[in-house]
Amino acid sequence: MFLGTPRVVAVETSRRQQTLARRVDVSGFGLWTGVDVVYSFRPAEENSGVRFFRDDLPNSVPIPASVKNRVQKPRQTSLAVGAAQVDMVEHVLSALRAARVDNCDVVVSAPEAPGCDGSCAPILQALLDAGVVRQQALRSAIKVTEPGVYYPDGSVLNGARIEILPSVSEGAFYEYNLYYDRPCAIPNQKASFNFNASPEEYLREIAPCRTFLTLEEANALRAMGVCQRVTAKDALVFAPEGLVDNELRFDNECARHKLLDMVGDFALASADWIGEFRAFKTGHQQNADLVSALLDLCE
Ligand SMILES: [Zn+2]
Repeated sequence: MFLGTPRVVAVETSRRQQTLARRVDVSGFGLWTGVDVVYSFRPAEENSGVRFFRDDLPNSVPIPASVKNRVQKPRQTSLAVGAAQVDMVEHVLSALRAARVDNCDVVVSAPEAPGCDGSCAPILQALLDAGVVRQQALRSAIKVTEPGVYYPDGSVLNGARIEILPSVSEGAFYEYNLYYDRPCAIPNQKASFNFNASPEEYLREIAPCRTFLTLEEANALRAMGVCQRVTAKDALVFAPEGLVDNELRFDNECARHKLLDMVGDFALASADWIGEFRAFKTGHQQNADLVSALLDLCE
């Protein structure tokens, strides 16, 4: 539900589309499943966007990174076309956006993306090492022209929302406000990032920020039989008395990670964004629902 009447228009930017200069592979294991996996990032034709290919399935179809292909799965972003599905792709999408890789074929050996250290820095570093090349076609964008506030279903009482504003810098600006209504081991915090900054700045400031959860949540997941291979070194685990067996990279690392997730979820629009987005307490589902709603409004 929107408060106000936000308006968005589709525009063509002066930025040429880009793809990778060469293939680059990132390997690791999925944080949820523990399965070893290789995500192979390959150059792709202009206007093809980001597409995933399940190399472990016979006759696998491409899975475009579009919000239309998003399927519901708790605490992660999953995409599917028919029986072919990829999971935990939000950090991959965040790294591709940060590197300005618009067209890329991602050939995967198992559904779940490599968890790396819980951040997207190893993926972004690999993409930047491979380098990008410009293509002929121009990149399109979705531009916010009138402000509004998006309240996800049922959230009016708990304060979850995303404020949408026209951009003062002709780019994308993201802010994430993290807070809990109940006592929580994770302190209240916020983070922001102006996407006009370079990919290298994203690599320094946002990409290294790791996924996080409370010890209570970690124990519940283990009891469900998932995340068996994950240690407190692969994610930030907050106990009531503090962070377990790890050190923060930034005081507000959790809010920065939520911003990283948001950039990945907003990439499901398959276009650049020109606008400011200030999120309060939202997660993957709400981010994607807003992207869908704005695409529906797009003139
Ligand atoms: Zn995340």
